[in-house]
Amino acid sequence: MSWNPSSEFTPPSTPEKDKPKPNPGTIINLVGDINLEVKSFNGTTVYAVSSHQLIDGSKFFSKLLGGGSTFAEATAFKAHILKKSQNQLFSRFKLTIDIEEKSQEAMTTLLQILHGKPHSLISDDIRLVDTWYKIARLADYFDCGGIFEDWARIWLKLPTATYESDLQNLDKWILISEVFRNPAIFEAVTKQALLLMFTKKDSEEVFWKVSQTGNEDVFTATSPGVLSALVRKREDLIKKFAEPLLAIAKHYEGYPKTLTTSTQKTYRCRLSKDGCDMLISGAARYWIHQLSLTEWGENCGSTADVTLQDLAPQLSVINFPTWTDVTYNGGYAPVYHSSCNPLLAEEFNVNKKATNVLKDLVGLNLLELRP
Ligand SMILES: [Zn+2]
Repeated sequence: MSWNPSSEFTPPSTPEKDKPKPNPGTIINLVGDINLEVKSFNGTTVYAVSSHQLIDGSKFFSKLLGGGSTFAEATAFKAHILKKSQNQLFSRFKLTIDIEEKSQEAMTTLLQILHGKPHSLISDDIRLVDTWYKIARLADYFDCGGIFEDWARIWLKLPTATYESDLQNLDKWILISEVFRNPAIFEAVTKQALLLMFTKKDSEEVFWKVSQTGNEDVFTATSPGVLSALVRKREDLIKKFAEPLLAIAKHYEGYPKTLTTSTQKTYRCRLSKDGCDMLISGAARYWIHQLSLTEWGENCGSTADVTLQDLAPQLSVINFPTWTDVTYNGGYAPVYHSSCNPLLAEEFNVNKKATNVLKDLVGLNLLELRP
């Protein structure tokens, strides 16, 4: 029988890497059963952690290692546990993950909180927004925001005005409040986002306009679910704003060719006279163009570069020309009736509409936007 080095030093079929290591790196849990090797842009750290805490607190780890998992990691972990129970192994199971551009500092805090251990992050100082944001991104990645809910309530005990006016960090506040499940902050900052968000022509991306000069547009890192819900909500609000203008434009589509006597008369001259109709449709088209509503459609790109904050005051000052009555003189001269001016109709009171939409925004319950 030949000498076999592997059977001499380790139990059969135990990989070399499972041998106990003298330096396990950062100890989160001394009696933990996993050495979690975390790779990131700022180096690799090994954390001694407990599989129970990972699986209980994080859906990411539950999917990776939990009972029903079909991942190779779960199979290897089960085999490891079995060998340990048979006293064939004394080492921790080695699990490697890559958090890419997320930070090790945030990872340490996250694992400490996941294990109910003391951690250094207790301050309610708004300047920590970047720290909270880093942890929120990781918590989002590991799907474990719930475990932060109580801590975040303490961290984020801030006067409303502080985060509402922190526009440069609007996208970070949205993610922090979404992941940490903080309804008050989520409501406040998503309302700001709705007022300030805009899109660019031929782009799917969404930005916040955080300064009047337009030079400090913030590209959003908000999670995709919340972002698309916000885009839809913004579209709804703009549609409400612009409803009367768009209704007139639709009504006069193809005018004067396709306009027939059977057409709905809401925004038409009450006596179906061409002169009046031309003034009404012309004015609506002019304002639709002025407000960049020209390419109106289902896509948010239709209102590129327009924020609700810009649109509201613009809509409030819309006025149609005041025309004076010109009566039919027997020839082909057009006829105008001052009483046909759509601004006189209650349903086309743009000023009132704009005010109502802003009121709607204040009253909106935006928590529904959270996935
Ligand atoms: Zn008329």
